[in-house]
Amino acid sequence: MNEVWNLDKLYHGFDDPTFSADFEALKSLVSRFSAFAETLKDVQPLDGLKTGVRMQEELTLLAGKLSAYPRLRNAANSKDQEATSWTGRIQGVLSNTAGARTAFRQWACGIENLVDLVRDDDFLKDYEFLFSGMLEMAKHNLGVEAATVAAKMRMSGSNAWSRLHGYLTSTARADYRGRQINLSAVRNLAHDPDMQVRKDAYEAELACYEAIKDPCAHAMNAIKLETISSCQLGGYESPLEMTLKRADMKRETLDAMLEAMDEYLPKFWQYLKAKAKLLGHEGGLPWYDLFAPVGKDTAAVSVEEARDFLLEQFATFDKELTDMVCRAFDEGWIDFYPRDGKRGGAFCSSIQALGESRILANFDGTSSAVTTLAHELGHAFHNLCIRSHRPLNHGYSMPVAETASTFNECVVMNAAIAAAQTREEKMALIESQLQKITQVICDIYSRYRFEAKVFENREERFMDADTLCEFMIEAQKQSYGDGLDHALLHPYMWVNKQHYYGPIYYNFPYAFGALFSRGLYAQYEREGAAFVPKYKKLLYTTTVATAEDTAKVAGIDLTDKEFWRSALQTVADRIDQFCLLAQA
Ligand SMILES: [Zn+2]
Repeated sequence: MNEVWNLDKLYHGFDDPTFSADFEALKSLVSRFSAFAETLKDVQPLDGLKTGVRMQEELTLLAGKLSAYPRLRNAANSKDQEATSWTGRIQGVLSNTAGARTAFRQWACGIENLVDLVRDDDFLKDYEFLFSGMLEMAKHNLGVEAATVAAKMRMSGSNAWSRLHGYLTSTARADYRGRQINLSAVRNLAHDPDMQVRKDAYEAELACYEAIKDPCAHAMNAIKLETISSCQLGGYESPLEMTLKRADMKRETLDAMLEAMDEYLPKFWQYLKAKAKLLGHEGGLPWYDLFAPVGKDTAAVSVEEARDFLLEQFATFDKELTDMVCRAFDEGWIDFYPRDGKRGGAFCSSIQALGESRILANFDGTSSAVTTLAHELGHAFHNLCIRSHRPLNHGYSMPVAETASTFNECVVMNAAIAAAQTREEKMALIESQLQKITQVICDIYSRYRFEAKVFENREERFMDADTLCEFMIEAQKQSYGDGLDHALLHPYMWVNKQHYYGPIYYNFPYAFGALFSRGLYAQYEREGAAFVPKYKKLLYTTTVATAEDTAKVAGIDLTDKEFWRSALQTVADRIDQFCLLAQA
């Protein structure tokens, strides 16, 4: 097994003649596509549609392959200057396609019988979903000139405000026990085994927001007002409507999910109170102990042991998945260990032209590192399931993006919990699972509530830092109930989270993803092997259907609260198990 991933299937280096040839081919393709876009007014609709789609297919595959190579090299080694400069050169070439793509879209949406043309053509009919999405978006288009002006103004508007927020939070220093440390360092101490460390870090973190809260409040107000204005100009009812449209998801689905979450919140509070008691607190858990470790994690495992464990678990589920995991380990799809200059965290990158994925990990032998591998291999499996789609049908919306990854996590975590030998081990595993899902349910809910309240108020008034803190505390009280100690909440989460200063409502898709895959897992537990082909077909459908139609493939109605309840019930069962262990 190789420790580092193998990129040779892409290129053997930047001096590889295939790389140079592909780069030249890309440049020529880009100019041909731009030239084609200029002739659109004179072409026959059907011919133009087919040519335009074929050219964009070619572009997608070639650009994907070419840009993946320097990007992956950079991820594995940030000091790889050649890779950095090639990323820039390739992006430069690709930026020239933006105008032509817009021109094609507008031309296509102007064709009167577009829907019929696409549906009745053997080649184009695979793109029915793509074109219907294009038509839907076109309803909200501002027109070329207005869109250009808006894009330019954003540079000095919301983009600039967002950068200011990023600058303030990345340069802020917390005074932790007399040492000046940055925000992420002080926040990381929330995982420390020593309670006094966690408490001091929490106090230092909160104190450090004082100095930056006012400019952050200005940034938040400006960004949210810009969002409201652009929604109004685009003819959307509200920012939420715009988000749902872009996520290919219905309002009824969101409501059904949130209502089911509301029903189950008290169960999460029960977990938080049990954890509080375990750590020696009266009543609710203080915020600073949300991430406190509980129990004892298992001994470190090697990559080989992780491989064997994953193969054993996946073998009980599906052969295709197991075979892919084998290939991933044996054929150099994974870059395993942390190294100097390598980026942190983990990700999975699809290389469409190869029909393969590459996974970057920072494996450290903990059980959470094994779960992370399972998670990323889930993304790789999702990519595998959609590989036979046409090249432009490979994108999926954020709510369904984490389906296969979280599903894999469920498979592995449940097996690990079942196999744990001691009470301490079992507690550690269950608690780490509950810690994560509590973030996705309670915290995400509080963020959603907060953001909704900010949008509700923004048109009428400017909200200063104190008001935003009040909204935050209110949202936390509603979402965490008596599970948390109300005297020790976190009024400044709105300063901390980048999401409020970027894409809107970047919160409920997390809850959707986590619950959707848990609901699927619950169905797998009920149906056994019969569920597997449905699951794979569902993953295949994610790129060519709305969230609701995707779920229908497995017989699920997302607008029915019962489905969301079934997902939440699996967590509730875990919480019962945790409470029992905590009392023992
Ligand atoms: Zn993921």
